[in-house]
Amino acid sequence: MELTYDAVVVGGGPAGATAATELARRGRKVALLDRAGRIKPCGGAIPPRAIRDFGIPDSLICARITSARMIAPSEKGVDMPIQTGGYVGMVNRDQFDEWLRERAAKCGAERVTGTFETLTRDADGVAVVNYHPKGADKSAAPLRLRARLVIGADGAKSAVARQCIKGADKMKYVFAYHEIIRTPETDFDGARCDVYYQGRVSPDFYGWVFPHGATSSVGSGSMHKGFSLRQSVGRLREIAGLDKAETIRGEGAPIPLKPLKRWDNGKDVLVAGDAAGVVAPASGEGIYYALECGRIVGDAGERFLATGDATVLQTARQAFMKDHGRVFWILGMMQWFWYSSDKRRERFVSMCADPDVQRLTWESYMNKKLTRRDPMAHVKIFFKDVAHLLGLVDA
Ligand SMILES: Cc1cc2nc3c(=O)[nH]c(=O)nc-3n(C[C@H](O)[C@H](O)[C@H](O)COP(=O)(O)OP(=O)(O)OC[C@H]3O[C@@H](n4cnc5c(N)ncnc54)[C@H](O)[C@@H]3O)c2cc1C
Repeated sequence: MELTYDAVVVGGGPAGATAATELARRGRKVALLDRAGRIKPCGGAIPPRAIRDFGIPDSLICARITSARMIAPSEKGVDMPIQTGGYVGMVNRDQFDEWLRERAAKCGAERVTGTFETLTRDADGVAVVNYHPKGADKSAAPLRLRARLVIGADGAKSAVARQCIKGADKMKYVFAYHEIIRTPETDFDGARCDVYYQGRVSPDFYGWVFPHGATSSVGSGSMHKGFSLRQSVGRLREIAGLDKAETIRGEGAPIPLKPLKRWDNGKDVLVAGDAAGVVAPASGEGIYYALECGRIVGDAGERFLATGDATVLQTARQAFMKDHGRVFWILGMMQWFWYSSDKRRERFVSMCADPDVQRLTWESYMNKKLTRRDPMAHVKIFFKDVAHLLGLVDA
């Protein structure tokens, strides 16, 4: 008799590896299917909350960032040091993702290397994940994994979501491209992230230089399909004085812009991470949210397996949006307003010189919640923001 897994998790990035860990830890029979062989294109910045909540070891942190420089269209730079003594951790995704997958395996998940093709159903209604093992002839019949629950964590443009979740094919994206360069030995601050808010670098997002120790990520993103990200990163490297640095590789990937309205198929499929669209607008931060989403989805999956009640699958999205929906909405408004013209970008960067803005930005990024210690600062920023949004102040 063919084995039926409690759960088959498709995709072994932060979301899938975490969901698999959660379920395997609870004694569930889990298969973690990942196609492997490609490093996820990513700036690799993670907040302390991610390091803390998900037990990320020091050995995976290749650089510690203690300040950010925001650079306006006029080249004016505003430095935002982290005043509280904390740091932003930088991770290399090849090592980071592999460590997360190995943790899932240590908890009991079975690792399977191959590419998901289709989800079909056996005569008894049980879901079957069909996949081609790594290196297999694609014209050969796929292999099968029967599952009571399928978790689609196969990233942006998720094949699982597109096949099983209504509306997934309509997801909007920012396209992002970066080059990994050899970090220069002089005239380079390895503890500072630079963020370029300049129309020539991106007409609707931003460009970045993120240090990773011996290497650095230099990238840019945009929603405009006609905008050449390669040329923009070339320009950014010139502006940043990094055009002579050795290029190790260049790679791109889409970043989803909005959480899907539904994460489950009402029966036995649930999506997580980029596949569910959980990336913060304006910043494009997705690693912490993928880890957190993986944890929540694993939790809802466990309750589904324990009760057989498919309605509990909906609680995953509800729980996530309860904690992060408001921040996503605010960041979406910020992106829409502040990233729309060089005049506004100039104003946005100058606002970043405000100590209240700096403190609250870091607090909300680092800990993923706003402290109530200083309510007047929130009120001040709220009114400043509203004044700009309503055009009461020249942007
Ligand atoms: C250029 C760029 C820079 C970024 N920088 C940052 C940053 O600095 N900080 C940050 O927090 N976020 C950043 N992000 C976003 C972040 O990378 C993602 O949000 C995050 O990786 C999502 O995790 P995930 O597990 O949902 O998906 P992914 O990390 O994409 O993992 C999906 C996994 O599924 C596997 N897979 C895909 N298809 C199949 C298939 N058919 N069969 C089997 N396996 C499959 C892949 O191999 C992969 O391992 C960046 C994104 C881009 C594109």
